Amino acid sequence: MSKKISILGSTGSIGRQTLEVVDEFPDRFQVVALAAGSNVDLLTEQALRYRPLQVAIMDESRAGKLAQNLAGLNIEVVAGLDGLTAAATNSKAKLVVTAVSGCIGLVPTLSAIRAGKNIALANKETLVAAGALVKAEAEKHGVDILPVDSEHSAIFQCLARENRAVSRLILTASGGPFRGRSRSELLKVKRAEALKHPNWAMGEKITIDSATMMNKGLEVIEAHWLFGVDWEQISVLVHPQSIIHSMVEYEDGSILAHLGRPDMRIPIQYALSYPERAGNTLPKLDLAGKTLSFEAPDVEAFPALALAFGAGRRGGTLPAVMNASNEAAVNLFLQEQVSFPEITRLVEEVMSRHTVVDAPNLEQILASDAWAREETLRLAAIHRSAP
Ligand code: NDP
Ligand code: MG
Repeated sequence: MSKKISILGSTGSIGRQTLEVVDEFPDRFQVVALAAGSNVDLLTEQALRYRPLQVAIMDESRAGKLAQNLAGLNIEVVAGLDGLTAAATNSKAKLVVTAVSGCIGLVPTLSAIRAGKNIALANKETLVAAGALVKAEAEKHGVDILPVDSEHSAIFQCLARENRAVSRLILTASGGPFRGRSRSELLKVKRAEALKHPNWAMGEKITIDSATMMNKGLEVIEAHWLFGVDWEQISVLVHPQSIIHSMVEYEDGSILAHLGRPDMRIPIQYALSYPERAGNTLPKLDLAGKTLSFEAPDVEAFPALALAFGAGRRGGTLPAVMNASNEAAVNLFLQEQVSFPEITRLVEEVMSRHTVVDAPNLEQILASDAWAREETLRLAAIHRSAP
């Protein structure tokens, strides 16, 4: 029998690649719900092709158009955050792929967990903002959180082989488009350059996060919650070729590494088919002639990593604040309203102004998230008007 899946963020980079995996295994997976932000045309196209029971669109002003496009097909159209949550908890779904961008995925993801759905998690911001809460709910409801992020999929697979006497998780990072640049050189970089990732084609927000290395910072926090390891046991190693997707070091000095072509369809497929592994038609990695290199991250030019370790260690609402401020600052950069280094400068300033709430509940996390977004916009406006 096929596994029934719901995809939140089906019109995005991960969402579209998830549907490519479904195309490869039409007998294994069946799409029962799709959800997107505002791209009605693509969502319509996907609905016509995959014939889900339900489609959700966040932008309520576009729900009418979507319903019109799908009239007479017996596909329920829902809208807004309640619509996304309905798609996340669709009674037929066994597995929910969370591939929206940003902390907006938190409420639907928590609802899916509470409805007993297994989660294929791409939406790392959810785990950064509310790791303790998400993990506690997942344990309470006996659901699996399966990583889609390539680094975490790699570690998950290494740990499945051997999870005793682990001394360290080594997250690899490509270093992004600005690897090797100094702090002052980064002052001048433009939006278009920051959007050119050397190894991966991804959505805009995560591409900018990769350029600032905040993506790796978010992944450190994601790894802490997914694998239950201490902060001292997580390290980051720059590996520009993105062939080793991450490693686990053991107490005897052995290291297990996971290698593969940089292609998100591989970790997506693993999360979808877990605990099984299936053959596919993707090209295989040919290592002959390849050189793998490694270097320590440049923590001076890229302060985001230290911010994330600091937020993770302090805990409470601070990671949610860091994440929300980063989302707001990245948006400002994409609108060409702040410089590249100002993204992390704003995040740092907002974090320093936050009064941390310990062991926060969902409402407190959402309130901190909203405060951090406003504070980021406020500070950016002050910086702009400063002489
Ligand atoms: P994209 O920007 O390509 O896609 C984002 C998706 O989320 C789209 O379907 C978009 O809908 C939807 N969306 C955006 N804003 C909202 C909103 N406010 N409400 C509801 N839906 C919304 O992002 P990616 O696919 O690159 O990334 C998705 C997630 O996966 C992120 O958390 C990212 O960190 C993570 N990830 C991505 C990787 C990648 O290779 N791309 C790798 C590892 C993790 P629409 O377009 O219709 O507006
Ligand atoms: Mg990653």
